[in-house]
Amino acid sequence: MARTAVPGRLSWRLATVEAIRDETATARTLTFDVPEWPGHLPGQHVDVRLTAEDGYSTQRSYSLASSCADGVRLTVQKVDDGEVSPYLASVLKVGDRVELRGPVGGWFVWRPTDTAPVLLVAGGSGIVPLMAMIRARNAASSRVPFRLIYSVRRPTDVIYADELRLPAGGLDVHYLFTRDGTGRRIGVADVNTHGWPADFEPDCFVCGPTGFVETVADILVALGHKPRKIKTERFG
Ligand SMILES: Cc1cc2nc3c(=O)[nH]c(=O)nc-3n(C[C@H](O)[C@H](O)[C@H](O)COP(=O)(O)OP(=O)(O)OC[C@H]3O[C@@H](n4cnc5c(N)ncnc54)[C@H](O)[C@@H]3O)c2cc1C
Repeated sequence: MARTAVPGRLSWRLATVEAIRDETATARTLTFDVPEWPGHLPGQHVDVRLTAEDGYSTQRSYSLASSCADGVRLTVQKVDDGEVSPYLASVLKVGDRVELRGPVGGWFVWRPTDTAPVLLVAGGSGIVPLMAMIRARNAASSRVPFRLIYSVRRPTDVIYADELRLPAGGLDVHYLFTRDGTGRRIGVADVNTHGWPADFEPDCFVCGPTGFVETVADILVALGHKPRKIKTERFG
């Protein structure tokens, strides 16, 4: 059977950097102009492809940080010995172009029409897709109650700190700092105290490094949350 190229969602598009915002010393948000962007749901990601002058090409996945209304924004945390993230987080400048493909993913998404309470648990840059959900909630004036547990090394590593400080009715934020001298890693008591009781049947979204995500998912199951209500995204 003859195959034809399918235009649309999964084709590569040229994206131009429109604006750059430093979030922390090692993370920054890139706003892209992407012609004919089809729109996205909070929680989805894109693939970013970089191609060098000698033709060498490499790609990585990045979550969309924006609610659909805010266009295409990615927040990249620099991984020191990484191949791609130092370029995106330090070198790329306004006017530069990359290739983007997406949006990708249909499971790890929150829709403003959803009505169950929401628990968001972020480890490090795992906050990015969860922030898209918070922004979509705000944009839709949704009254669904959200709770966010956000684990980072130190207070200076908090991404979107200013925005998370703004009072938003129905959004509770709890921070855990793993390297501020207390060395607190997330445990059952944190999720039990700052999450929702399993009886409320919340939608739980957990995102971050693989070990963090697995620990939190195990805790949620141990606290009685149904596995189908626990949605996870691993950043590697
Ligand atoms: C669905 C999805 C969404 C993602 N969304 C985001 C996002 O919104 N923001 C973001 O900053 N990253 C995100 N990532 C991670 C991103 O795709 C890259 O893995 C990350 O930027 C590192 O790429 P690199 O080329 O710099 O490092 P690489 O050259 O691939 O790896 C270098 C070293 O760093 C380690 N490493 C790789 N990734 C990480 C990591 N995330 N944290 C710590 N160490 C790591 C590797 O094991 C290796 O030792 C996402 C990943 C997935 C799968």
